[in-house]
Formats: sequence, structure tokens, C-alpha cells
Amino acid sequence: QDYQNVGLVVGVTGIVGNSLAEILPRSDTPGGPWKIYGVARRPRPNWNAKYPIDYIQCDVSDPDDTQAKLSKLADVTHIFYVTWASRPTEAENCQINGAMFRNVLRSVIPNAPNLRHICLQTGGKHYVGPFECIGKIPSHDPPFTEDLPRLNVPLFYSNQEDILFEEVDKRRGLTWSIHRPSGIFGFSPYSLMNIIGILCVYAAICKHEGAPLVFHGTRDAWEGFQEFSDAELVAEQEIWAAVAPNARNEAFNCTNGDVFKWKHLWKVLAEQFEIENYGFGEEMGSERVRLEEVMKGKESAWEEIVAVWSYADVVLNIGAGYFVSMNKSKEHGFLGFRNSKNSFITWINRLKSHRIVP
Ligand code: NDP
Repeated sequence: QDYQNVGLVVGVTGIVGNSLAEILPRSDTPGGPWKIYGVARRPRPNWNAKYPIDYIQCDVSDPDDTQAKLSKLADVTHIFYVTWASRPTEAENCQINGAMFRNVLRSVIPNAPNLRHICLQTGGKHYVGPFECIGKIPSHDPPFTEDLPRLNVPLFYSNQEDILFEEVDKRRGLTWSIHRPSGIFGFSPYSLMNIIGILCVYAAICKHEGAPLVFHGTRDAWEGFQEFSDAELVAEQEIWAAVAPNARNEAFNCTNGDVFKWKHLWKVLAEQFEIENYGFGEEMGSERVRLEEVMKGKESAWEEIVAVWSYADVVLNIGAGYFVSMNKSKEHGFLGFRNSKNSFITWINRLKSHRIVP
């Protein structure tokens, strides 16, 4: 088969990577027909196996492994970089994530003569800093626009951007786009941050134990407006940017384009797991505790999903009002959106249909 474009998805089993693997091979996808290479470290999981892509097991933090496996992919035209590594400090995050990204670019760019575009996925922390800094350092005034200057704190996104500009500069004609989703609603059981997966495991445990579904976050988070990004929508924006001339060499925010309140989605979560007793902690006579504490010792209940409870604690305790602007993305031609409530339900159903939660 003749392909118009050849995509390399680094992090193909991740929360957006898995959606890219699903969407890119479709016949009606912009830029198609696409041939796809997909990279991750672990063997290919069954929930990813039905997508027609060439799966490559490679650890991109290892320069030799990356060079050996990715320098051979001479036909790549587009890179979708949708991966990251989590370390205890931001200095370490900068180091490891910079090295991983550089390993990929230095293995592919010199060996893929038709390479045209690199999509780098970062995120909304660009505007507020690493999780441990949120609310503690002066951040910009929301809604956040893409032209705001970087904050004066270490953040691995900044290192990745600098590496991108440096490596792209070495080859004339290469273009890039940077994508900044907010929290993501998606599917992957291999994702380091999957709020839907975490909440589903929590709800399933509550159901199993006959316990109430208590929201352990702050009142601000319970009652305030929130915005999220659907994984499929983020994938769609990245594919759009890969082929739209208007999107070259630009950064774009990417959110669903609506707002919700956790107190409304909590009802939806309870309904999906048939839990009648649910609500905000204080109103249910429950002290505010971290989900990480509540869930201690219950890790073995679900082997498949790595429920990183502390991530849920960040999400459910974050203040409201950290909004990004979608104007630039729309003005440049990407008009995609999602209904967040429907997105929430869709991904819960996807987890259930793969029997990751009952
Ligand atoms: P995920 O954690 O969902 O997925 C990571 C993917 O990369 C997996 O396929 C994983 O598979 C693979 N991977 C991890 N390490 C390596 C490695 N050393 N070599 C090869 N493959 C590897 O990624 P996200 O989409 O969450 O993250 C991408 C970017 O998006 C990050 O910058 C993140 O901060 C940002 N972001 C994420 C949000 C979210 O809610 N998830 C929200 C906003 C921004 P395996 O483990 O098998 O290697």
C-alpha cells in the first residue's frame, strides 16, 4: 500500500498515544493513509493490539536502544512525542525527560530524510509550574494564552521545548507544534496520570466494600468550575497540526471547550457504578483525607491499572479557575471540542468494556 505519511508515535500505549494509535490508521484521518510506528517499553498490551501499527519495544531513556531501533525508520515523516517519565524532583524530571526526547530526535532526524514535522505534547503546567509549585509561586492570570512567558521555575516542558528548537534548527524545513492539554480524560491503563482510571478503581472498591463514594478533595474543587481535555480530542489536534500549514511552529492549548463541576461528575461516577451513597466528604461526616491514605493496602485489587492515588489528590484538591484560552487553536483552524460529561462517561465505559473495572 502507498502511504501518504508515516507517523512515529513515541508513547503509543499512553493516554493520548493509544488514541493516536486508534485514529491515525483510519482511512478518513487527515494526512492519511498513514503508516504508523508505535514505541513503548513494555510488550504490547492486548487493548492496544487491534490497531494496525508496527509496534516497537524500545526504551527511549537508553540512547543505545533508541539509536539501534529508531535510526532504522528511514521513512518517518512525522513524530508524535507523547511520553514522559516521572521522578521525585523537577530537576530530575528535567534531566530524564530532556534526555529521552533528545535520544529520539537524534536517532530519527539525521536518518529520516522525509521527516517534516514534530508534535511535542506538554501540558497546562506550562502556566502554573510543577504540581508542587501550584498555588505557591506567582502564576499568570487565567485564562492562559500560549504567548505568556515561561514561569521562573524549573519545569521539564521548558527543557523539552529548548531541545526541540535546538534539534529542529539543525535541519532546514523541519516544522514543529507544541500541544498543551489540561488534565486528560482517556483510557490507558499504562498511563502515569489517568484520572478516570483512578476514579473508576476507587469507585469499584467502594462498591465492592459497600462504602460510600466520598469526594476527598477541597470544597473549591468540588464546587468550582473545572476544565479537562479528552484524549481523542488531543490526538485530533496533534494530527491536525501535523498536516495543517497554519499550525506550523506554534504552541496550542487543548481543552474540551466547556466547564464542569466535580460535584456533578461525582453523581455520574456514582451512577456508573450503581452507588447510591455519595458526596462531598464534610457533608458525609468524613474528615478530609488524602485518597492515597484511604487506598493504602488496596493496591493489589487491580493489577492491570497502576492507580497513582497521589495524582488524584492533586486533581481533586486543585483550586478552580485555572483556565486556558482555546482562541488561538480555533483562530488557526482547529475547531474540535468535547462535551466533558459525555467524555467522562465514554472513557468509563471503555474501561468497563475492557474489564479493567467491573
Ligand atoms: P502516559 O503516561 O499516558 O504514557 C506514556 C507512554 O510512554 C506509555 O506508552 C509508556 O509505555 C511509554 N513510555 C514511558 N517511558 C518510556 C520510555 N522510557 N521509552 C519508551 N516508551 C516509554 O503519557 P501522557 O500522555 O500522560 O504524557 C505525555 C505528556 O502529556 C507529558 O508531558 C505529560 O505531563 C502531559 N500531560 C498529561 C496529562 C494527563 O492527564 N495524563 C495532562 C496534561 C499533560 P511503557 O510504560 O510501556 O513504556
